[in-house]
Amino acid sequence: MNPAQLVSSVPTGLLIGGTWRDSSDGATIKVEDPSTGEVLTAVADASVEDGKAALDAAVAAQRDWAATAPRDRGEILRAAFEKISARADDFAMLMTLEMGKTLAESKGEVTYGAEFFRWFAEEAVRVHGRYSTSPNGATRLVTMKAPVGPTLMITPWNFPLAMGTRKIGPAIAAGCTMVVKPAGQTPLTMLALAQLLEECGLPPGVLNVITTSRTGEVMEPIIRDPRLRKLTFTGSTPVGRKLVEQSAEQLLRVSMELGGNAPFIVFEDADVDRAVEGAMLAKMRNIGEACTAANRFYVHESLMEEFGRKFADRMKALTLGRGTDEGVDVGPLIDAKARDGVAELVQDARDKGAEIVLGGKPAEGRGYFFEPTVVTGVPKDARVMTEEIFGPVAPIASFATEEEVLELANSTEYGLVAYVFTNDLSRMLRVTEALEFGMIGVNQGIVSNPAAPFGGVKASGFGREGGFEGIEEYLETKYVGIAP
Ligand code: NAP
Repeated sequence: MNPAQLVSSVPTGLLIGGTWRDSSDGATIKVEDPSTGEVLTAVADASVEDGKAALDAAVAAQRDWAATAPRDRGEILRAAFEKISARADDFAMLMTLEMGKTLAESKGEVTYGAEFFRWFAEEAVRVHGRYSTSPNGATRLVTMKAPVGPTLMITPWNFPLAMGTRKIGPAIAAGCTMVVKPAGQTPLTMLALAQLLEECGLPPGVLNVITTSRTGEVMEPIIRDPRLRKLTFTGSTPVGRKLVEQSAEQLLRVSMELGGNAPFIVFEDADVDRAVEGAMLAKMRNIGEACTAANRFYVHESLMEEFGRKFADRMKALTLGRGTDEGVDVGPLIDAKARDGVAELVQDARDKGAEIVLGGKPAEGRGYFFEPTVVTGVPKDARVMTEEIFGPVAPIASFATEEEVLELANSTEYGLVAYVFTNDLSRMLRVTEALEFGMIGVNQGIVSNPAAPFGGVKASGFGREGGFEGIEEYLETKYVGIAP
């Protein structure tokens, strides 16, 4: 399909109880292409009543859905995995149009996102309880698992497919119904995914999708509704904090996948070329708009010159442009606010004495482009070192000792991911044990994997997505004591 046909093939309504419909007051939200600023289409803008109707539908479907055979739920996920893979080019194009990353990157996300469905199709039939004898022999202890129940899922714009499948996959496998709210900037991928899940036989009401610009107003009553049992959120730490407060009222099960400030550490015994390769991936994947993006580079002083030069050369060779064009490596940022925010961080570093080795400013012309940027000699109090950058900017500082760099790496409220490059096994063990992060990449610039537990500590949140742990987030443990 060409881009215009593709966009017009996506349903633009709210999916509630198996019916696609307009919002109750007819309002719509415009969806933009960030590489041009042009409007692609408009989707329904849900009202408070629509949000309530979506929860009503999820609640109504919960009992029957929980009673379906695990194999049947797994087969729906498996069919969806196959269909997404068969339509990979269309999903990638849609994602590039609304989010901006290159088609190659979007295809990578389609593969990654679809894999969550394959993984949880397999996990659906591996939910186990336990049987044991109490220590005094007087009773039998049986534990069983039950779905948590209706779940609200709120997802961000940076990975429009994978941040959805990482939640929807385990919820389907566990037998939970759901209301999904994708980010305002990128609703189309989620709407296309919902349509595909319907085609795969997902019963009405199991997955309800609402798009809204009145986000807080529509989400809060759902979160405070006693019928909701779980909230799972991927997004920024400030919004996550607010949602945890709201969820306290009903004591919801909560999973929070929040922001990061990943240190990328290159020790003196590292292979520099491998570190540069890892740095390109950790920094530039998704235009730097990833919670896992390397945010602060700490390079041992003995390698600073070589690493800085090789890395800047690689960054300089990148081509900025529309994600749909051939030969483009780096797309636009999501919107003007994001681009201006990145420019402010670079200006702050400059004001504090850092040197801009490459780039450093928004690109001219339409769209929200920012040049690949390398900044050296960055003081530790520069905002670019302490705040999540979410753009193609790499600040590099040097260090002298392992102790010093560990102190620097851990001195953040965030704790999502860290990257370590070293060829010394003892150091690798010491450092990975000392780093206060939920995930650590060793000699590699990417950690995301559907078979691994993704998640953070401290202000990066709690709960895990993917791996064996992922489905547990959607299950309650029930214990039954039986007198023999
Ligand atoms: P965001 O502003 O927090 O938005 C995320 C989602 O929350 C969107 O759907 C947004 O809806 C919604 N939202 C905003 N305000 C809300 C409110 N008051 N009540 C309920 N929902 C609300 O984050 P973002 O800018 O889209 O995403 C970037 C952030 O996500 C970064 O901090 C990044 O690190 C984090 N992230 C974390 C992970 C992880 O796994 N740890 C993965 C990816 C991204 P609207 O679009 O309608 O505002």
